[in-house]
Amino acid sequence: MPDNVPNGGIPKSVARLAQTRKTPFLAINKKMILRKLDQLQRAMPDARIFYALKTNSHRRIAKMLQDAGTGFEISSEEELDLLLRCGVSPQRIISSNPLKSPQFIRAAHAAGVKYFAFDSPDEIEKLSRFAPGSSVYVRLSVSNEGSQWPLGGKFGVETEQAVELITRASKGPLVPCGITFHVGSQCTDEMSWVSAIKKGRLVWNAVEREGISLWMLNIGGGFPIEYTESIPPIDRIASVIEETLRQEFPTGVEIFVEPGRAVVGEAGILASTVIAKAKRNGQDWIYLDVGVFNGLMESIGGFRYSMVADRNGPVRKWVVAGPSCDSFDVISNEVDLPELQIGDKVYISSAGAYTTAYASRFNGFPIPKIYFV
Ligand SMILES: *Cc1c(COP(=O)(O)O)cnc(C)c1O
Repeated sequence: MPDNVPNGGIPKSVARLAQTRKTPFLAINKKMILRKLDQLQRAMPDARIFYALKTNSHRRIAKMLQDAGTGFEISSEEELDLLLRCGVSPQRIISSNPLKSPQFIRAAHAAGVKYFAFDSPDEIEKLSRFAPGSSVYVRLSVSNEGSQWPLGGKFGVETEQAVELITRASKGPLVPCGITFHVGSQCTDEMSWVSAIKKGRLVWNAVEREGISLWMLNIGGGFPIEYTESIPPIDRIASVIEETLRQEFPTGVEIFVEPGRAVVGEAGILASTVIAKAKRNGQDWIYLDVGVFNGLMESIGGFRYSMVADRNGPVRKWVVAGPSCDSFDVISNEVDLPELQIGDKVYISSAGAYTTAYASRFNGFPIPKIYFV
């Protein structure tokens, strides 16, 4: 971060909002969401995109993506209702969570949703009972190496069990259509996609030998965005994926992709205000009106956000914490910022994904309002 640059990189529209609106708030640049979507589609021209709605489920984002013709990936009745109210066709909705409530399955099936993931015999039972006739795909457990927010452990099965489950599903009132995986969120190692696709191919071959033909490979999400560390560009990850697909699936396969973070993350700037300062054990602390509980939950997973203040001056290290009476509420132990005063604004970049979506009103601190700029 450069010294002596006020509002470095902070758009005027956001700084202006911060003069009249209460903080914390999240300013979302709608055009940037569309640009990111376009970038992903151009990088993977043959893939069908399903935005993972949990990342940021603001109605206007859903509406905008609906108008852009994007699909959606969901897990709950509330997400389903939101999309239906936005006029999204159920044909553009899928659910890749392999552990769904019976109520949700029933509601989604009744609405006309056709695609569901599974990774256990019980899920096959539920889908057979509450969503007969659906197209179903198995969630494979894959390496989450290089992911900042791993999604392994809780989901997915190994190769052999995947084959067993697909075979079992083919005997019921379901139509097995493919395989899915998730390399973990904010994944910066493109080899994770390579090994996952290869693992998928092994399952695919074994299932074909059982006489079941699949046609879809859902490569999940995980595409990284820029925080404080450098990341491989989406185009490079996409070309590695394309190359692997050409090798492993030479006769072609329908690709589904479920980006969340990469669609909305960089479009959001969180505006906050310094509410307190302290010196503790030789360290300088500032306390913001936004913290781990009301927006920056991912900082406890090691995410480091880039922060800029609206004040000039030589920078030094600060510990930056949130407002609540909880010691987990520390955003970062080391941020370069100038000498700040109570009331100064601090802007946090790449805050559009998994921030307000995760936020609670713990201790009475408000969830940041979203403004579109
Ligand atoms: C959360 C999630 C995604 C989106 O992941 P990102 O890392 O935000 O791209 C995609 N698919 C499934 C099944 C998910 O649970």
